[in-house]
Amino acid sequence: MNEIKIGWIGLGNMGGPMSQRLIKAGYSVVVYNRSKAREDALKLMGAAVASSPQLLIEQVDAVIIMVTDDQAIREIFTGDNGLLSSKRVSGKIIINMSTVSPGISKEMAALCGQGGNHYLDCPVSGSVKQAEEGQLVIMAGGDETILEKVKPIFEQLGKLTLLVGGTGAGNTAKLAINTLLAFHAQGLAEAVVFARNNGIKTEDLITLINNSAMGNVFAKIKGDAILQNNYKAAFALKHIAKDLRLAKQEGLETPMGSTAFQTFQQAEPTLGEEDIISIIKYIGSKK
Ligand code: NAP
Repeated sequence: MNEIKIGWIGLGNMGGPMSQRLIKAGYSVVVYNRSKAREDALKLMGAAVASSPQLLIEQVDAVIIMVTDDQAIREIFTGDNGLLSSKRVSGKIIINMSTVSPGISKEMAALCGQGGNHYLDCPVSGSVKQAEEGQLVIMAGGDETILEKVKPIFEQLGKLTLLVGGTGAGNTAKLAINTLLAFHAQGLAEAVVFARNNGIKTEDLITLINNSAMGNVFAKIKGDAILQNNYKAAFALKHIAKDLRLAKQEGLETPMGSTAFQTFQQAEPTLGEEDIISIIKYIGSKK
């Protein structure tokens, strides 16, 4: 059994497989998820369950959070029975791996500091497959000595952990990466639709892309999804729409950034729950 006791909050598409890896690696893990059904799989693997973030943090040394957005983070930290509602909690390391704004990280880090707790923003690049295989890329913001203490945990989750600056810097790096991700998704979708509209079979175009210099892991996985007409969310389109809003708040006003922002905001109301590459349906509908 690994010594450090971990609390895990958020068992969605990413948090589920990531927390499962830690249990398999021998960590003692206590979980909390807002909707209870998602806790069942973890319980079966031996995780303990806490009924609130407050009860969770009281039992562990470090807390890892993987939830949707700034609002979820605010509720988890400062809501009724939130992480910071107990005066007894001090000296804990709280790691926020969600893709959120640098601003909310700075705000929560300050609150953590007031109670003698430590905050790291550590969002990840990679999706469900990389989460399952422990191959995520982790970008960290915060104090290096605190990061060093939790690096053994990150070795189970990712292939690289890179400290990129102080609090919020991990979030900024993640917004930059997801801006590029949006370009890849929109670019792949536009190429396929253009080719299809001009008589090239989608299967042939995807084979060409995967064997060209533009072939990459993203094009391979999402090319397969397009061919199988499978748009079940691994990374929901609503999340990239959220990330582009956050990037815009941080000053993204570049030509492609502005275009991608507009495209994904317009697609979100109808395609938000589907995968990011369902943007091809939106592009296709425009001709
Ligand atoms: P997801 O499947 O939609 O899961 C979201 C999780 O957040 C669920 O556990 C949900 O709880 C919880 N949550 C949402 N609002 C909450 C609130 N107000 N209070 C408490 N819990 C709340 O999302 P995901 O794909 O795992 O993504 C999680 C984060 O990682 C996001 O910031 C996303 O941008 C980022 N990310 C995702 C991917 C990917 O490929 N999926 C890759 C890299 C980064 P319920 O079960 O109760 O709804």
